[in-house]
Amino acid sequence: MTVHRLSPEILSAMEGAVGPSGVAISGSDMAKYLGDWSGDHRGGALAVLKPASVAEVQAVVRLCGALGLGIIPQGGNTGLVAGAIDIEARGAVVISLERLNRIRLVDADNFVLQADAGCVLQAIKDASEAHDCLFPLALGAQGSCQIGGNAASNAGGVNVLRYGMARDLILGLEVVLPDGELWDGFCGLRKDNRGYDLKQLFIGSEGTLGIITGVELKLFPRPARIETAYLGLASFEAAVALFRQARRATADLISAFEIIGSECIDLARLVDSDLASPVEAPVHVLMELSASAAVDLRALLVDFLAGAMESGLVAEALLADSDGHAKAFWAIREGLVEGQAKRGYHVRTDLSVRISDIPALVDQARHFVALEHPGWLPQAYGHAGDGNIHFNVLPPEGLTVVEARARGADITAGLYRIANSLGGSISAEHGIGRSRHRAFWAGLAPVHRRLVTALKQALDPEGLMNPGCLLPPTETVP
Ligand SMILES: Cc1cc2nc3c(=O)[nH]c(=O)nc-3n(C[C@H](O)[C@H](O)[C@H](O)COP(=O)(O)OP(=O)(O)OC[C@H]3O[C@@H](n4cnc5c(N)ncnc54)[C@H](O)[C@@H]3O)c2cc1C
Repeated sequence: MTVHRLSPEILSAMEGAVGPSGVAISGSDMAKYLGDWSGDHRGGALAVLKPASVAEVQAVVRLCGALGLGIIPQGGNTGLVAGAIDIEARGAVVISLERLNRIRLVDADNFVLQADAGCVLQAIKDASEAHDCLFPLALGAQGSCQIGGNAASNAGGVNVLRYGMARDLILGLEVVLPDGELWDGFCGLRKDNRGYDLKQLFIGSEGTLGIITGVELKLFPRPARIETAYLGLASFEAAVALFRQARRATADLISAFEIIGSECIDLARLVDSDLASPVEAPVHVLMELSASAAVDLRALLVDFLAGAMESGLVAEALLADSDGHAKAFWAIREGLVEGQAKRGYHVRTDLSVRISDIPALVDQARHFVALEHPGWLPQAYGHAGDGNIHFNVLPPEGLTVVEARARGADITAGLYRIANSLGGSISAEHGIGRSRHRAFWAGLAPVHRRLVTALKQALDPEGLMNPGCLLPPTETVP
């Protein structure tokens, strides 16, 4: 990759590709594209380009290819691993998909929706609902993240245990390849065994193999009944046992099973100081059942919880008696993510292990922090139904950010060691980006590295797509 300065000729070629309103080059115009939601990462760019059509995406990719410019695809910039931010500021071009934001088709008869990649996830959910359907991907950032970013990062969220990750919800993709050619992988088919399933290559590829310009999604019947419970339990072991029993006892109608260590609740109060904890137990569980037809979910839930309380598994239980009540339960879960961000820099992980290993993961991680990093505050919560725990750690008050970041890197490495020793993953859902590529790469078997490198070289031989993301920089450039 050649490092360029923005000459008048290059600027004029960029304006030719996307029009003057599609080019940002000043610090103030580029600012919002160069920092992420968490405030942890800032980067640089030669320019931010905002194509408004698929043809314009092709034009900018061809232009960047001709000039040897690195390309960083960017969606809503809510990813938490610096995948869409050039933190090494190596003079790449950010391509924002925000102007490519049309819902193309809602086909409720076939439960299919087609959209431009730059559509905000919430807009996709709203369009589905308007046709009495559900697009079940649900995450805290859904008002800002884009469906192309969700596909590129294989997003998860709170409904994965019922509906799967983004990977499971995508029927087809449309992708501009690194040489500017368009691959149209829309087919509308639920079953299609004609050779390699190419869309799966691009899902989770974090912008390193091409730019996703369109997505074809699976819809589901919209739930007509939803029941939400907020529970207090004695331990993470009890929560895992409850989940196991609940799946069978509720006919597998659970759509969310979130687990929250009680130490996290104070963080949600940073967002809403009036927020009261519904229960006092050491571990909280937010459980949701849903069904699209007239199933008596309330009776199922009440029967199940009565048994769980009688056996001592559940200490306290509250059932939401209105939508507002259920929203108040969810505000606790959502508030704690925002509350942590308000505390500034902290260690942020999204680990996954087998569901039955969640208690061991939390125990070992807490023990490690208490022993080796006293004063740091562990926070354990997550999508327990998927074995996904966000084990985050807040620095003690009074540390400078530089000190906290240096110590935070050691803590992160320790937490990754624990997850690996349990056969888990250092990235359940956020991806690798630029903040984890070294840990990711170091953990791969040689054959795995060879396959990843071969794929990258086959699709992006010049190494221009999202350089420095996912693969460490030396592996990105051939
Ligand atoms: C409050 C909050 C809660 C969150 N909760 C969850 C959660 O529960 N589950 C979860 O999985 N994630 C969660 N996230 C992380 C984040 O929202 C997801 O990773 C999301 O899918 C990123 O989408 P985005 O559009 O913001 O992508 P970006 O951050 O812009 O980009 C992410 C990656 O995808 C690439 N990319 C983006 N668009 C394209 C495209 N069109 N073509 C090719 N590559 C592209 C980028 O280069 C980058 O590597 C959360 C984030 C926040 C801030």
